[in-house]
Amino acid sequence: MRKFSDIIGQKAIIEHLYNALRTGSISHAYILSGDAGSGRKTIASIFAAALQCEDLQEEETEEPEQIMSGTGRQAPRMRKKKLLEPCGRCLSCIQAQSGNQPDIITISHEKPNSISVGEIRRMRADLQIKPYSNARKVYIIPDAEKLTIQAQNALLKTLEEPPEYAVIILIANGLSAFLPTILSRCVVLQTRAVEEAQIARFLQREKELPEDQAMILARFAGGNPGQALLLTDDKEFLELRDRTVDFLAHLSRSDAVQISEFSSGIDAGRRDEVLSFVLMWFRDVLLYHSTQNSGNLIFQEDIQYIIEAAGMLGYERLGRILDEIDTASRRLRSNVAADSVFEIMFLKIRQQYLRRV
Ligand SMILES: [Zn+2]
Repeated sequence: MRKFSDIIGQKAIIEHLYNALRTGSISHAYILSGDAGSGRKTIASIFAAALQCEDLQEEETEEPEQIMSGTGRQAPRMRKKKLLEPCGRCLSCIQAQSGNQPDIITISHEKPNSISVGEIRRMRADLQIKPYSNARKVYIIPDAEKLTIQAQNALLKTLEEPPEYAVIILIANGLSAFLPTILSRCVVLQTRAVEEAQIARFLQREKELPEDQAMILARFAGGNPGQALLLTDDKEFLELRDRTVDFLAHLSRSDAVQISEFSSGIDAGRRDEVLSFVLMWFRDVLLYHSTQNSGNLIFQEDIQYIIEAAGMLGYERLGRILDEIDTASRRLRSNVAADSVFEIMFLKIRQQYLRRV
């Protein structure tokens, strides 16, 4: 069974819910807002299970302190925190795990882009029936940003006078779709971007990835653990990474034909990713050049090529290379023929390698 201790980041939300469970001051309505993949649904289902659990467990775990800089390869300082977790053993927990807890109801909707007033009226009717076996009845409404205005007005009636046993958890990708009257009656909990180092540790644990691969994926995930998991299974992404790194490792020895071939082989939908790899690669080279230390590099596996490049390129040339990458990024955004953008960038980068001082 998933537990609060499994959630990556989202310290403020977990703390809020811990205090609510500890003191029993449970709101009738919550909005869990944030990007898909940030943990909203998992948090909602753990909270629902905890609300219904017959034997809540107080557990103490450790979490890393905020990491201030670098890629977080240094072991982080740990801080103790307390959690109230669903026990995972009582009848309610067992039912919740299989999605059959009669007093935890997830509202589905027929139309992909809206939740209708009819669907909310049905929920309201169901809400009038007392809980089946628990003190509370918990409703989870995913995609709540799709509630129509009429549906929100119907929901508002419930929020204004909720039965004492009702807890409604709205999951949404933002708050802009909600009526102010809805927002003012809900406890709003917003998920935040998670630190790269935390996502990387999560991937190492969940997917048994080597540290450097986990770091690269974490960097691309933009603070979103769900996105990181998707990338882990994205074969094209992993293949692209290997191909780009291999190309960069041998760029100083590549001829114009090889450069042209690689550039024209970049899929239109993957251009930003390739550019990010290139940027990350030369940042590694710069970092190694200035620190002579491989500890904080992202491309650990290719350290010999990073060292080689750092030896060939000084600060000045690396500065010019980073400028070239920046120029290419701007040109891509202004829709210049993309193949030529990459080709020109790589040719100019190669020039920096070949230049005699
Ligand atoms: Zn339980």
